[in-house]
Amino acid sequence: MIYRFLMLLTLLSSNYLIGDLMKPTSLSKDLYSNTILNGNYLDTISHPDNFLDFDYGTRVASPHQIENAIRAYALQSDRLKVIEYGKTHEGRTLFALYISSPENLANLDNIQKSIAKLSDARATSDREAKSLIESLPATAWMAYSIHGNETSGADAALGIIYHLIASKDNALTNMLDNMIVIVDPMMNPDGRDRFVKSLEQYRGTAPNYDDQSLLHSGDWPYARTNHYYFDLNRDWFYLTQPETQGRVPLINKWRPQILVDGHEMGAQDTFMTGPPREPINTNIDRDLIKWGNVFADDQAKAFDDNNWRFYTGEWHEDLYPGYSFYIQFRGSLGILYEQSRMSEDGVRRPEGTIQSYKESVHHQFVSTLANLKTLEKHTKAMYQDFWDGRKYNVSKNSEFANQTFVVLPTENIGRLNTFAKKLQAQDIEIYLNTKPIQTKSALKQTGDSQENYVIPAGSMIIPNLQPEAPLIAAILEFDAEIIESVLEEERRQTLKNGSSIMYDTTAFNLTMMYGLEAVTVQENIQGNLSKWEPSKIDNTINKDALMWAVNGMDDRSVAFAARLMELGIEVRIIDKESILSDQNLPRGSVVVIEMDNPNFENLSSVVGSVASDLSISVVSIDSGFGPEELPDWGGRHFRLLERPQIALMAQQNFSSYDVGVSWWSLDHHLGIRHSMVNGSSVSYGDLTRYNTIIMPSGYQGLSNSEMSSIRDWVKQGGTLIAHNGSSRSLASENGIGSVRQISSTFDKSEAYNMDLQREFGALSVEIDMQKVNENKVDFEVEYPWEVSKNKFNKAQLEMRDKWQSLFMPSGAIVAGRIDNEHWLTFGTVDTLPVLYGNNPVLMTSNNSEAAVRVGQIIENKEATTYRTINWSDMPPNTDLNVKMSGLVWPEASQRIANSAYLTRERVGRGQVILFSGEPNFRGAALGTSRLWLNAVVYGAGLGTSPRIDP
Ligand SMILES: [Zn+2]
Repeated sequence: MIYRFLMLLTLLSSNYLIGDLMKPTSLSKDLYSNTILNGNYLDTISHPDNFLDFDYGTRVASPHQIENAIRAYALQSDRLKVIEYGKTHEGRTLFALYISSPENLANLDNIQKSIAKLSDARATSDREAKSLIESLPATAWMAYSIHGNETSGADAALGIIYHLIASKDNALTNMLDNMIVIVDPMMNPDGRDRFVKSLEQYRGTAPNYDDQSLLHSGDWPYARTNHYYFDLNRDWFYLTQPETQGRVPLINKWRPQILVDGHEMGAQDTFMTGPPREPINTNIDRDLIKWGNVFADDQAKAFDDNNWRFYTGEWHEDLYPGYSFYIQFRGSLGILYEQSRMSEDGVRRPEGTIQSYKESVHHQFVSTLANLKTLEKHTKAMYQDFWDGRKYNVSKNSEFANQTFVVLPTENIGRLNTFAKKLQAQDIEIYLNTKPIQTKSALKQTGDSQENYVIPAGSMIIPNLQPEAPLIAAILEFDAEIIESVLEEERRQTLKNGSSIMYDTTAFNLTMMYGLEAVTVQENIQGNLSKWEPSKIDNTINKDALMWAVNGMDDRSVAFAARLMELGIEVRIIDKESILSDQNLPRGSVVVIEMDNPNFENLSSVVGSVASDLSISVVSIDSGFGPEELPDWGGRHFRLLERPQIALMAQQNFSSYDVGVSWWSLDHHLGIRHSMVNGSSVSYGDLTRYNTIIMPSGYQGLSNSEMSSIRDWVKQGGTLIAHNGSSRSLASENGIGSVRQISSTFDKSEAYNMDLQREFGALSVEIDMQKVNENKVDFEVEYPWEVSKNKFNKAQLEMRDKWQSLFMPSGAIVAGRIDNEHWLTFGTVDTLPVLYGNNPVLMTSNNSEAAVRVGQIIENKEATTYRTINWSDMPPNTDLNVKMSGLVWPEASQRIANSAYLTRERVGRGQVILFSGEPNFRGAALGTSRLWLNAVVYGAGLGTSPRIDP
């Protein structure tokens, strides 16, 4: 920091030349002469300039500088109370600044209690509500720069804090008597710090107004995201990152009337705010749209007064509940600012003018004050609407009342507990039924209804007649409703321009993301429920046992195996369901056998302590005999694992999101050693250090020599795991292995169909004993591909594929059918929801395995013959469910039906594992993430030839 300070001093002072660098001819700080902080201020509060090495607003304040100012202001002002609500991965503090009159600040606990009362209409009467509304101050949560390289918001926040605590203006102090402003000045300090560093690194002498320069763009992994390259503005209900985990529960406690979220957008844009356009999630209270317009109107007037350009709506939609608009499902008004990005120096526009950074800070500052004034005017009416909404949510006549979400019992205790924690962090009330419950009918995740459905005992019951009904509906309903006019517009745009009006995924159902089986019941289930509690963990260890085992359905069993192997313990996995010492062990259960580890001291206590770190139950087993046909410990179903030595490819050409979430998944789910390596090191590095290489999405440009060094490494026993874009490269003619993308298979489509028919045949074997025992040749043998009616030739298939590929989903959930004997599918449900976007459509032939395919097979008695979908035939009496949630056009369903989502192929002594999509998407796709964990931790042992030391 000192270095930076000195450098700036010399750069900016006009008399100096450093070494042989020339003095610049102009300085960007002179571009904009308006003063942002133009009030009449107390001199007991330090002006922001005191914490900066430049004039306030002219450059990007570092997280460190902002933090220094916050800590100083906490001591200087009685209008301020500073809360630390979390720490980032890199150890930076996350602050919320409560700014109000000293009286209000002394009374925060009571105010919060009143807000809680006003939020639960089951416990509060209209009369009480009326008096609460009269007495409550207005509340505003003003949050900035959740994307680290969108810097102007946090700079504005610094000025806002100063302005609110230092102003002598009566109107402002009066406002604070009746309002609590909570400033969340810098939502992503790790990302911001990355950007500040890149500004330092790419700074030359003269200012740079070219938005294509590195000074403006920064470089990989870019600074939008947090430490693990997560987009924090997609994490509001997935709650995977410490920033969100600290912030959201605090916001939920305060239920601010407005939540402002200050961003930046493309450099050549202007300023966008105001209510969104369709699609808007139908669970949002429409009163909020009305209020959105009221706020936008006042803000627009403030912009008009300054001669500043702006717009509302346009690309701003609101279907996905994981943006900051999350709070709208809880009755608060969300207000988005999108300021064009200036990156310090300013940006030259097509008309030749330069928009300065300081002006962009000023826009956010003026918007903030305008919004606070509007809130001051309308707070009581907004509280009234809020109260009406809260009453509606718990009313028997609401659209939510007769609906209950049910998560079916599972042995995957770790995942279920995580799911419960996410719901509880959002004030969602969850229950347990100890006895079965009879219902009229239930809707399943695949869209089928079942009459007279009985909810099994031990399910998690979430009645939607409760205060957070709209939020619950938004994240647990199987399909978000998209209105017809939006679908028409989407289809029109798709056909005309190949573009989409959907800004994010159209599917986000939390049970499906988690791969937990669930049903929706169209009635309000209330009776005979107890509060849901996590099941008890038992990891008492009998140290004299033959072996110790953990249940393979539980995701934490994978971490258990990985962590033990890292400690040098030999670990086995049982690849077939078994019963040992009366303990039921599903396939994928992990065992540690004393005899495998004769020289390991304290084996039983290490096993016990690893299990207790992971909160997973362990069973001690005295006998290796499995009754009847079940596996015994000396047989081939007790398979020895091999410690994964992992390299994760990163840097240029890889999607930073997919690299980041893969990295986070290794650290978060496993916590074992691994190396993140530069992707280009495949051509010069020593790959033999690793037995497992992960290639996140993105790599399109492997050279022939890079491809051949990876191929050689695989042949010598490596496990290569690739995602999405990288799978696309590997499934090409000069890739590795025989998996192909669909577009290159149409001349062999009958062979692919034949392989598929073998799979179908094996799924439902029916034998005619008389025919089997017949000695004469049967002239009537039926061959599936000959019986099928509709056949398409290569040209037709190509035409169809071209057309269908226009309609690929922009993020929807489709049904995956698993091969339930494959080790890659340990711990997954039979119909696995899979997030699918514009993925490579993968085709396996008989050399390669499809561990997961697209489409759930269901019975259809009316289908009496084989029916054809593009290249594949569906046998008689079957139908195929593809869509589970979100927008999947019928054309897309046809295109991806029966293709592979996850493939595995032996190549030499090693193997290639391809995911069509990104299995760990946003750290929230726990269903497919389990497939990936299986690949990473078990791949080296189960899928490659074992190495025996000579
Ligand atoms: Zn943003």
